[in-house]
Amino acid sequence: MDEKIIDIDMKGAPACGRCFMLVAGYAPQVTTTAATYHRECFEAWYFGRHGKRPRLVPGHSGARHRFMVREAGELAA
Ligand SMILES: [Zn+2]
Repeated sequence: MDEKIIDIDMKGAPACGRCFMLVAGYAPQVTTTAATYHRECFEAWYFGRHGKRPRLVPGHSGARHRFMVREAGELAA
């Protein structure tokens, strides 16, 4: 039963914008207006680009593993 649920989750899973592997619905992840990333991938990318760690805001209850970026404007820079 559990395996079936995971299968369904992965079918709708987006691909990470950095490593292009699927981001499981229950995995720590960062969503931006443009894409979804694994949290680790996003932090590595952001640090390489900006030289500092991103300020991530956890989602609401039930989605606390889904983070948003506080300073979204820097993503486009
Ligand atoms: Zn990734």
